[in-house]
Amino acid sequence: MALVGSRELIRDINEKTILKEIFLEKQIDRASLARKTSLSGGTVTKITSDLLKKGLIRVVGESTSTGGRKPVLLSINPNFGNILGVKIGLGYLQLIITNLSGKILSQQRKEFGEELDPHKISYLIKEYVEQKNKNHLIGASVAVSGTIDSIKGVVLDSFILNWKNVELGKILKNILKVPIYIINDADSFTLAHLWKGKLKKHKHALVMILGVGIGGSLIVNGNLYTGNGGAGEIGHMTIKENGNKCSCGSYGCLEAEASFESLVNKIYTKSENTLLKEYYKTFKNTELSEIDFIRLSLKEDPQVSHEVFNEYSTLIGTAIKNLINIFTPEYVLIGGEALEFSDYFLDNSVNYARKNAFGNLGERVIYDVDNLGPKAWMLGGVYQVIQEEMFYIKV
Ligand SMILES: [Zn+2]
Repeated sequence: MALVGSRELIRDINEKTILKEIFLEKQIDRASLARKTSLSGGTVTKITSDLLKKGLIRVVGESTSTGGRKPVLLSINPNFGNILGVKIGLGYLQLIITNLSGKILSQQRKEFGEELDPHKISYLIKEYVEQKNKNHLIGASVAVSGTIDSIKGVVLDSFILNWKNVELGKILKNILKVPIYIINDADSFTLAHLWKGKLKKHKHALVMILGVGIGGSLIVNGNLYTGNGGAGEIGHMTIKENGNKCSCGSYGCLEAEASFESLVNKIYTKSENTLLKEYYKTFKNTELSEIDFIRLSLKEDPQVSHEVFNEYSTLIGTAIKNLINIFTPEYVLIGGEALEFSDYFLDNSVNYARKNAFGNLGERVIYDVDNLGPKAWMLGGVYQVIQEEMFYIKV
């Protein structure tokens, strides 16, 4: 029996290896598959024929022949199934359904005010799936800000959502009945760029996400660096001794000094503008109202807003400089909602890091901005579901 079991296991490993290679190459013929996976031609023929029968892959054409019959090109069947990607933000859900090539088939934003009950949020997610998903659902990922136990699907600590030890994976699995992956939102953002964006070309990179909170990730040797779990909480590095109290409980964290909330408070304190003072009193603590306030302040009190953004640019530049000194990335990618205001800080931040990093480390870096936009928050999680559900062996 043990022998039969191990034969099945080997077959399973070979099948997933071939499937992953086809996925990564997008289009590939059988001979190239055999060469890349070091499997025999016979094994590749047998397994690809099974995968074709199951509908997991499809024939998409012929490659140029070097003589004899033209080799058939195989690709993943993008419509084999769908994946759900969710981001839970402060006061909103962002939802997408994609096929296996990451094409977005449906997307929706749902506002839920300040109601953060995980059961209610899970039912909002279910409602969306029932309305919009038209194909077999392979799995779902949910991106959340904070520290995540990805194995158990538990949100350990999300300061923005004010969640502690929330078993979101379990709750959602009971409702959706598919595999659920809970992922840190910054990690999801970064995985999306590894899959579909500019990070594909860089082995050592730093990702900074600036907005309502401040997050980040590191790419080391082409892979997301997770450390001992929870790596990349760059928003909680201390940037100012005796600074503002942070949502994490500490003082002077980068996030406490340079989140949208902090920008709003600084503008409110410094500005004499009555319209801003009035608006500040009315808005609720959601991402949208913070962004609206900053937009309004740039119009109503440009002088104070520019002063606050100047200070912001130095804080961000200092953080980038420190991270360059420690990790020496070749590439720094900056993303997040703050890019809407990039005219007021980005050049200054980059110049600060470039000039002040150790030796010439800052000058060797390519500084760039996100080109995927908000869908990256969900797309990286989708990529994780595809990898885990389709290419990894579960033992
Ligand atoms: Zn903090």
